[in-house]
Amino acid sequence: MHGRAAHERSMSIEKRKSVAIIGAGASGLMAAWHAASGGARVTLFEKQRMPGRKVRATGNGRCNITNRNIDVSFYHGRNPQFVRNIFGRFGLDDTVSFFRRIGIPLVELEAGRLYPASLQASTVTQIFEYELEKLKVDIRLQRKIERIDPLDGALRLTTAGLEEEDFDAVILAAGGCAYPQLGASRSGYDLAAALGHTVHEPFPAILPVNITLKALHRLEGIKRDCSVSVMRSGRLADRSTGELLFTKYGISGPAALGISRTVNESIGAGEIPEIAIDFFPDTDADELDTLLAELWSEGGRPVSLSLCGLLRDRLCDTLLRIADVDPIAPVRGLSTDQRKVIAGVFKDLRLHPGAARSFNEAVVAAGGIDVGEVHAATLESKRVPNLHITGELLDIDGDSGGYNLQFAWSTGALAGTAASS
Ligand SMILES: Cc1cc2nc3c(=O)[nH]c(=O)nc-3n(C[C@H](O)[C@H](O)[C@H](O)COP(=O)(O)OP(=O)(O)OC[C@H]3O[C@@H](n4cnc5c(N)ncnc54)[C@H](O)[C@@H]3O)c2cc1C
Repeated sequence: MHGRAAHERSMSIEKRKSVAIIGAGASGLMAAWHAASGGARVTLFEKQRMPGRKVRATGNGRCNITNRNIDVSFYHGRNPQFVRNIFGRFGLDDTVSFFRRIGIPLVELEAGRLYPASLQASTVTQIFEYELEKLKVDIRLQRKIERIDPLDGALRLTTAGLEEEDFDAVILAAGGCAYPQLGASRSGYDLAAALGHTVHEPFPAILPVNITLKALHRLEGIKRDCSVSVMRSGRLADRSTGELLFTKYGISGPAALGISRTVNESIGAGEIPEIAIDFFPDTDADELDTLLAELWSEGGRPVSLSLCGLLRDRLCDTLLRIADVDPIAPVRGLSTDQRKVIAGVFKDLRLHPGAARSFNEAVVAAGGIDVGEVHAATLESKRVPNLHITGELLDIDGDSGGYNLQFAWSTGALAGTAASS
């Protein structure tokens, strides 16, 4: 009785849910794998010519997949606690096991950062492509979704080429608008906003910072380990310690990238914060005073020469000029006030940021879709049934170090699993 078996088989095929995923980036690839593994018929739409274009560029081509120290304190947005509910359901261990299962063992490098052992980001997209093909996911490249229309529980997608197709569930995994050179755009925010979602205006994070003080631009090319603080209304709002790279417009390097989110958030709120650089983060103010007194014990030396054992010459001369001190004047001519000003510039140089630099340099877009409008367990929209929203599109952004990809993997896995059931 092949007829009955065939009928049951065709019934079970019919009962399989159809799931569409918009965007073959980190969260979309993860969602596709989980939805297809959960038994759904999955179609993955990607507007670019290849899947995972941004993933291939992550971690300087090595893909910093996640971080051993995952914790809510590395996340930002209006409600960072939201990530607790996500990682409680699909967290670090699930991610490490998942990648191992698909053939990507991870290795730990500096500061808990985990990478594929191959140290090659393209490994990740290559293996996802193989896995999704095996799971019979229909990957449609160069298909930009322009509209999502709810109809009687199902959702209709319309592509830029005006093709229409209906699905039982849709996962919006279109990413944020950081790094448009890799194809990122505002498309995901626009699709969500058209369905009534609240989109908090995205702003660039993890990028260099413009500094208005022109004298500082003379330091272009110099690197130094510093501590950089952000003061908002006189209060410490953020601090980052590490290598600072001076540029022709301001500051870059890990220490600057680390405070850029707080700086840009303040600027967006109409408040220009103060930035304070400590060039001697490992020496407290009293120790520095003692050291300077020692260096200044010989009154005949030019000031710059007295300090050249402490700071490289271009940095020293520039900081002296900022302190309004002539570098070639003899030490004995320094007044007590000038000595204090020099020590202050070394320990606590106050600066103002210029306008935020563009999304072209930003690793991540902060802001995005309000997380109060999605269920944490499933990422399903509270506004539009059967629509799930993942990854950077949501109003959550992480620090540098694998935190953004971890959020993308976790939300993708939860949404894919939920959409297929
Ligand atoms: C240079 C760089 C390096 C980075 N390195 C790291 C790192 O090492 N570790 C880390 O944790 N994070 C890193 N990040 C951040 C991380 O890559 C992102 O946060 C993450 O990729 C976001 O995943 P996502 O799925 O939300 O979006 P994405 O990975 O950006 O994917 C979204 C996809 O959706 C497609 N799309 C958009 N709109 C549509 C549409 N309408 N129709 C069809 N397709 C559409 C896009 O083309 C894209 O492929 C880096 C970012 C950059 C720019």
